[in-house]
Amino acid sequence: VAKPDPILRASGVRRSFGGLTAVDVEHLEVQRGTITALIGPNGAGKSTLFNLLTGFDRVDAGEWSFEGRRLNGMPGHKVARNGMVRTFQLTKALTRMTVLDNMLLAAQGQIGERFFGSFLRWRWAEQEQANVRRAMELLERFRLDTKKDDIAGSLSGGQRKLLEMARSLMVNPSMVMLDEPMAGVNPALVQSLLGHITALRDDGMTVLFVEHDMDVIMGISDWIVVLAQGQVIAEGRPDDIRSNEQVIDAYLGA
Ligand code: ADP
Ligand code: MG
Repeated sequence: VAKPDPILRASGVRRSFGGLTAVDVEHLEVQRGTITALIGPNGAGKSTLFNLLTGFDRVDAGEWSFEGRRLNGMPGHKVARNGMVRTFQLTKALTRMTVLDNMLLAAQGQIGERFFGSFLRWRWAEQEQANVRRAMELLERFRLDTKKDDIAGSLSGGQRKLLEMARSLMVNPSMVMLDEPMAGVNPALVQSLLGHITALRDDGMTVLFVEHDMDVIMGISDWIVVLAQGQVIAEGRPDDIRSNEQVIDAYLGA
């Protein structure tokens, strides 16, 4: 058994909306180099937890560190530059942009503040070239390179999911958080998406993902964390979770 080596540790993370406690996580650790699944019924707080940890929503309480660095209160683009990213569904605005522009926009977090002055503008251009190279590498890896000048809105459901994944990799993250990466994808493409997810781990990345399909979850996860009504009610290896009555109750009781 490998020694624990958490890349992410969180404690006491809470978020309420009005009277509703959406997230109330006493303790959570994600081990480096694993594929960890976050599962639970609809409304369990999975997406909210993703938003909180990646700086796209504010906690009411709690603290967490990533690679030993405290991230509490850090805005999303800075969290991304620290190596922890979450995927976002293509918004309406993004669907009107080309595939390549989607990739370049995702790199903005890496460039950070706007620069002025001709020297800095030249540095910017250099950075932009590096971003284009990186974008094209990723588009090839996800077989989207021939679509680079297409409007993102013209992609199929599966290709959109690939683009969402590719976008998140523009900042060279060490941990990727995928929120329902298989949702709405043609079953024929599911295997290919799964292959991309395991490839991320094989490249040394840590993956935390939300998914509903039990076969998918059991097939690729090293560890499973079960969330219900904002709380972690169980965690363990796939075989332990499969036979856990609390987990079955949480799903059937939803
Ligand atoms: P999951 O992703 O597990 O389905 P969510 O994190 O989306 O669950 O939602 C958890 C709970 O918090 C739900 O009851 C949801 O309605 C509520 N919620 C999420 N975001 C907001 C928000 N911005 N305003 C009000 N309630 C929210
Ligand atoms: Mg969700």
